[in-house]
Amino acid sequence: MKETAERPVRDEDPLRCEINWCKGVGPSRALILNRLGIFRAVDLLFYFPREYQDMRDFRSPDQLEPDKLQTVSGEIVRWEIRPTKRGQVVVLDVLSNNEYIQAIWFNQPMIIYGFAPGRRLLLTGKPKNKPTSYSTWQMAHPKIAWLPDLTEEEKDLEPSELFTDPYLPVYPLTEGLQQYHLRKILKFLLEDLPDQLPEVFPEKYLRDHQLLPIADAVRGIHFPADPDHLEKSRRRFIYQEFFILQLALAIRRQQHQTALKAPIMELTARIDSRIRRILPYALTGGQNKVVQEIAEDLGKPVPMNRLLQGDVGSGKTLVAVYAILQTIACGKQAVLMAPTEVLARQHLTNIENLLSASRIRIAPVFGGQPARQRAMILQEIKTGAAQLIVGTQAIICSEIEFKDLGLVVIDEQHKFGVRQRARLKSGTKFDPHYLVMTATPIPRSITMTLFGDLDVSVLDELPPGRSKITTKIVNADQRAKWWDFFRKKLKDGRQGYVVVSRVSEQEDEDLRSVISTYEDLSSGILSDYRLAFLHGRMKSEEKESIMNRFRNGEIDVLIATSVIEVGVDVPNASLMAIENADRFGIAQLHQLRGRIGRGCFPGFCALFPTERSAVEISPEEYSGTSNKAEMERKKEEAREKKMAESLERLRIFESTSDGFELAEKDLEIRGPGELFGTRQHGVPPMMIADLIRDRSILQETRKDALDLVRSDPGLSEPDHAKLRKQLLLRYGKLLDIGDVG
Ligand code: ADP
Ligand code: MG
Repeated sequence: MKETAERPVRDEDPLRCEINWCKGVGPSRALILNRLGIFRAVDLLFYFPREYQDMRDFRSPDQLEPDKLQTVSGEIVRWEIRPTKRGQVVVLDVLSNNEYIQAIWFNQPMIIYGFAPGRRLLLTGKPKNKPTSYSTWQMAHPKIAWLPDLTEEEKDLEPSELFTDPYLPVYPLTEGLQQYHLRKILKFLLEDLPDQLPEVFPEKYLRDHQLLPIADAVRGIHFPADPDHLEKSRRRFIYQEFFILQLALAIRRQQHQTALKAPIMELTARIDSRIRRILPYALTGGQNKVVQEIAEDLGKPVPMNRLLQGDVGSGKTLVAVYAILQTIACGKQAVLMAPTEVLARQHLTNIENLLSASRIRIAPVFGGQPARQRAMILQEIKTGAAQLIVGTQAIICSEIEFKDLGLVVIDEQHKFGVRQRARLKSGTKFDPHYLVMTATPIPRSITMTLFGDLDVSVLDELPPGRSKITTKIVNADQRAKWWDFFRKKLKDGRQGYVVVSRVSEQEDEDLRSVISTYEDLSSGILSDYRLAFLHGRMKSEEKESIMNRFRNGEIDVLIATSVIEVGVDVPNASLMAIENADRFGIAQLHQLRGRIGRGCFPGFCALFPTERSAVEISPEEYSGTSNKAEMERKKEEAREKKMAESLERLRIFESTSDGFELAEKDLEIRGPGELFGTRQHGVPPMMIADLIRDRSILQETRKDALDLVRSDPGLSEPDHAKLRKQLLLRYGKLLDIGDVG
């Protein structure tokens, strides 16, 4: 028995064979592969290339043509790194069939890793035109493939015979691992292992949706036979990745709809006209459309689960109030929740004003309420005396018991994804309806993934009387002019915001910069005006009282951190200056700017870019050298790059105020992971699919997933067993999907 314990036993299943048993691997390389998360044969099959070296056009130097992608083989003669005005250049001379070829790389010093005289390699790139037939061919930034150590029989072969593949896969590597190692191991594995892979899709499904079978696709993703094979292989995996997610979302949605019952709160013509009499404005066309969608949902016995998207200032609150009134008219309670206390209190004030003529009883619920008051409020909610409950997330955490909760409205929720959506107990056997509102314009591709189980309404029309906002990047030499303008507008009776960005992760720092900006402005440029500051560390009563004074016009200029970001609504405030504007993301800038231009006065937004000296560079960007001058240069380079990038972002922001357009651009710049915190909030990283690049496949899978779930709701047909297993494995826990069988 002792013997078997010493060496791991080989797994019967060749796919699950430990990697060190695989041909061409061995114990030390196995450890390196482990570092890449590869433990078993099957892991390597799914370790996909990050790109390909196109080897379709293999030539000897005398056959080369300019500006066409071609590959030549050769032997390293010498190389050097030369400084240039903007960095450095690696110059490599390669001898090929008695002719020299020169390869150059700008600012990629790492490329010389692995260079050695006499080492044989393939260069793939576009040669530059030779001025004369005596000069050498030159390739800028060619891709390199090392020719491996050759066996005796291989020694006599031409490189073109060694590399018969039209594309060479290029894998993400780690130290101690070379492309040709991986290629060699994969070549062995790909011989017959792929045929063992289980196929999740039924055969007919593959045919109907033009998907390559798994074995063919695995081969094609590593060593495609031609461009079409590569394309089809990629499509198969992208499709599968999106499809499983869409299937999971469709099933969750369906489970939700069959398992939960909601109270029917039907809208009658009488209720409708009563509500409209209470509202201060006639609804816009957009509001009417959305109100109707919501009213219909509320009239069904299935809990509504709807996301209302509307740009800042589009009038979501009024839509929410309509739904709340419909709920109350049907004898149920409603909850309105906001992410911050400032915002919740603003809602409270607004709604109290709005409903002052009616006899609707509103209960505020915030953290830190005195115990006696709180007990009283909780009692009112329990008996049903309180019809509308307004507050922060404290509503979820507390031990509130409702008498009969019909609707939950969650405002400005943009930081949540698939995982969490707070569920409140209604007090009856029914579940409440949910309306989630967000001003973050979410590109459709994201809505479909993160919120794929929600219905979406879009409020795409601004209320009448909105004014244009002019946005300008204001450089240091134009600031004085901007402040002149700012003062002139204040004198005309307008109000303004000065937004101070987060300086560091430390809240203390934030606070200090708010206060110092306040002091500078109040003793200088804005000394004739009434200023106040607002930051996240203040007590809520303090914040509330400042907001009230600002709203009432007792304060002219509010200096604040991004706490004013969401939802604050003061129509007379038409000016905004954002310090270090580049430190905010586009989405956040858009939220900030949405605070102005809310009334009949045109808005003006100034973006102050961070001054050169204050642009911070992280040490990673200039590490890797001990040479002081070199370090300075790297630092300067990184700073230059960072400034150019921020300026680009600010320019995009300056160019449009369309939230959806900005969101799309932001998504392109930053990638979806960053934008909505998809990582933290639910969606596991995609292996190959890309939300932006592959959005048409995403759309396709959404439709196909809905179709499939409609035809086989529990995925209980034997043909769908593997799909079901995969989706439970990947999303079961995450999306809280019970066994669907
Ligand atoms: P957001 O969608 O950003 O939450 P709000 O609900 O705060 O927008 O509305 C922005 C402003 O538009 C408010 O001052 C509100 O009173 C006003 N408003 C909303 N709907 C209408 C309407 N139908 N007609 C005129 N003004 C409206
Ligand atoms: Mg709002």
